[in-house]
Amino acid sequence: MNGNEDSRPAGPYAGGARYNKTGDVLKAKYGTKVYRLALSSGATCPNRDGKCGTGGCLFCSPAGSGDFAESGGGSVTEAIDRAAALLKNKLKGCPAPLFIPYFQDFSATYAPLAVQRERFTEAISHPLAAELSVATRPDCLPDEVIELLAGLARLKPVTVELGLQTRDDCVAAFMNRGYPSNLFPEAVAKLKAAGIQTVGHMIVGLPCPPQYGSSPDGFPLRTQSRDEILDTANFITASGADGIKIHLLHVLEGTPLAEMYKKGLFRTLSLEEYAGLVCDIIENLPEETVVHRITGDAPKSILLSPRWSADKKKVLNFINREMERRGVVQGSRRRELMNVQE
Ligand code: SF4
Repeated sequence: MNGNEDSRPAGPYAGGARYNKTGDVLKAKYGTKVYRLALSSGATCPNRDGKCGTGGCLFCSPAGSGDFAESGGGSVTEAIDRAAALLKNKLKGCPAPLFIPYFQDFSATYAPLAVQRERFTEAISHPLAAELSVATRPDCLPDEVIELLAGLARLKPVTVELGLQTRDDCVAAFMNRGYPSNLFPEAVAKLKAAGIQTVGHMIVGLPCPPQYGSSPDGFPLRTQSRDEILDTANFITASGADGIKIHLLHVLEGTPLAEMYKKGLFRTLSLEEYAGLVCDIIENLPEETVVHRITGDAPKSILLSPRWSADKKKVLNFINREMERRGVVQGSRRRELMNVQE
């Protein structure tokens, strides 16, 4: 082996991946590529319509964090077909792809029950739909919604994605999230008992409220620390959630966070800092947790900061190289800690 080759073994997951990627999990399950199709839910959110707030979360875009959701009107089936057609380049060489209709924007389970029933049932009944996925908040899951989703889960697998972002209630309140963190594990338990898969979303790089003090580099608001970020990841996995989505904090034009950023109240992470934090999270995850995302997508036209995140491929490559450099695989640090405790 020459000096340029990496002597560390590749990761234990499919294709030598160092973490348990959702795309690989789905491919192994269905024997073909499975693509998620982001659809508009037709719902609003209790954090916008006055039920628990009006301004929304400080980081949330006017599109309700569904900037790429297919929302061209018509039926759900037409929306699925349009979203699938947009993937035609990616689908070349994949003769029989399947899809997961994903109701992404706002709080998909906040629409009237009859609307949810109609839209979710049409989506899951699409002949190319392998599963159904729905994004929402833990406080938008009344019993009748759980019952609806449980019924659908008897047809095909259903996943509910819950936007936690942070388990720190002070930071969450500062971000105007509008519900207490203890609702998250309660929602996961209810969903799992109903046979529904769960994913928790977290954001890396959130600014803290003023009482947490200023940043060492002089910004009035400090960013959440490594330990605080790991605490959120642990909170998600300890809840029993099947999967995790790790998002970078994007500052988007048109959000209250953008105004704070322009006033110089906080800074966003560098690529090096973000990659390091993602590696820290991954090495502390349980081995079986499915990792749905290690960065995020933001529309370039409204992405204020960090601009480096616009090049998603570069970000993913950078994170993967950092994992290689550190010799990190999912759960490696967690296993070490457990061995020490035994
Ligand atoms: S992030 Fe979700 S909960 Fe927060 S305002 Fe946007 S849609 Fe509502």
